[in-house]
Amino acid sequence: MHDDIIFLHPPSIFDFRERPILWGPMNDLVPSKSVFEMYPIGFVSLASALEENGFNVRIVNIALRMLQDSSFSPREYLSKMNAKAFAIDLHWLPHVHGAVELARTCKEVHPDVPVITGGLSASYYHEEILRDLDSFDFVLRGDSVEFPLVDLMKSLTGGGEYEAVSNLSYRRGGEVVVNELSAVPGDIDSFSLDYDLVYRNVLKYKNLDILPFYEFLSRPIMAVLTRKGCDNNCAGCGGSSFSYSTICNRNRVGLRSPDRVVEDILKVQEYRSPAFIIGDLGSPDEEYGREILSSLADKNISIPIIFEFFNPPTPDFLQAIGDAVDDFSVEMSPESGVEEIRNKTGRKYSNHELEEAIAGGLEAGSNQFDLYFMIGLRDQDRDSVRTTIDYASSLLEEYPDGYLMPFISPYSPFLDPGSLGFEYPELYGYEKYAETLTDHYNLLANGVTWKDFLSYRTNRLSKSDIVDLSYSAGIEFARMKKRAGIISDRKLKEIEDKIHVSREMISLAEKGGDGGTEQLKASLNELDDRLTIDRGELDWANAFSPRRLAAVLSKGAKIYGKTIKDSKFYSRVTSLLHLFS
Ligand code: SF4
Repeated sequence: MHDDIIFLHPPSIFDFRERPILWGPMNDLVPSKSVFEMYPIGFVSLASALEENGFNVRIVNIALRMLQDSSFSPREYLSKMNAKAFAIDLHWLPHVHGAVELARTCKEVHPDVPVITGGLSASYYHEEILRDLDSFDFVLRGDSVEFPLVDLMKSLTGGGEYEAVSNLSYRRGGEVVVNELSAVPGDIDSFSLDYDLVYRNVLKYKNLDILPFYEFLSRPIMAVLTRKGCDNNCAGCGGSSFSYSTICNRNRVGLRSPDRVVEDILKVQEYRSPAFIIGDLGSPDEEYGREILSSLADKNISIPIIFEFFNPPTPDFLQAIGDAVDDFSVEMSPESGVEEIRNKTGRKYSNHELEEAIAGGLEAGSNQFDLYFMIGLRDQDRDSVRTTIDYASSLLEEYPDGYLMPFISPYSPFLDPGSLGFEYPELYGYEKYAETLTDHYNLLANGVTWKDFLSYRTNRLSKSDIVDLSYSAGIEFARMKKRAGIISDRKLKEIEDKIHVSREMISLAEKGGDGGTEQLKASLNELDDRLTIDRGELDWANAFSPRRLAAVLSKGAKIYGKTIKDSKFYSRVTSLLHLFS
């Protein structure tokens, strides 16, 4: 089959199956495994825009295929593909090694097929990419390249001029040409998030190469995007207001209108998957969120919905959520239990305000309130990490029934390029060990352990301190969860043992010892599971539900019925599936 463009998602480290890698807790708090196999939601909006313009589009999650099948060869797989262009995401920098190697493989197999990249990191490093890495032909810069990509594909397939493509960087006669970054939409209503596209790809190619992440079928979660950009300026974040303005030329947040957000939630509900709302609905002001919530109130929303907040929501706003949806959870990242350190990260609220939100969530009917604390913050030291552990423990004693779920994790592996901390390290309490794209690539290429991968230290914590504190705090958090009855004795023992092995492997690697099989075994164990938490702590819904299965099959029948133009097929199958829902 011939495709116009194939989107390829790389693993973080391309040869992760061939060498021991001690991942540590790098991915403990996200649905992905350590190779970060989850592709950006932008793939779906980009593919939707291209399909609407008549292009044949396919998405292949190469990282997922490599995880699922140890004999899967990206080279062989690519050699069977027939496309006019490949697009490889380089959004978050931890994918740099995988993206560069995947582009190289594409070029070796299909030397004449152009390779396009994009995302925040590619946008930041566009000149270095085009100057030093022959495997990439084009970089589309910015946060909204749906229409520039359509224009680029028209140029590639119809012989148009690249000069006219907004946001594009490319090579001409050995020189890097940088077009104006002018496609910066004021709102993000103009493109669709066609979640059915994933299903259509499955039916069209008769495989699951497009699944967003490894555990998607057993533990689904679908994102609902409310904005591009952010009003806040967390020091190490490459998605901050400062970063968006310097990298993407975005000087104000682009919001998706409340009507479109509600439509997207309803589309997710058709799959009966939990929905994660990206962006604080209380920002820029509560009115935006209240409009969404009041519209949801009469829509019979019964899927679990997870709301994230940057600032503590008021009890009144939380009640509005409780009035609108039956099943919801809340998450916040206070980063530190020490207010002064939290404030320096850009989060200017007190413990008292946070505690009011926690109480308000419970009162409003929230199922779970997740709290994320970090290690690797400016001015943080051993004492302040101790205070954070004690603070989390006291909160857990107050809410011991599984409602409150605290987590702690290192800020790793990289300081985001374009963040305030990266641009002004001294001012923000950081010292950098990597500057260029190649520096970051080399950290992943030459390192063995997640300590090797760290691209920074803080003004008070060396790399060794960050690693040591992450392990000891991880054990303390596991113990407090055991005391609260959240995890079992067996799970606690498992976490303690895994952390012990992980520490030993780091020490072995540092001594230059040849850990060989032992290291490889530990590496595979870490790849397979989370290090400091029980994977179940991240679940917002039952892993399996017959209603969800029925909904997914019904959706498949509808899309398949449309594809084969047989509406009776759909009605026959759905009436059968209604028996389960
Ligand atoms: S970490 Fe801070 S700056 Fe980054 S997206 Fe979240 S709220 Fe915005």
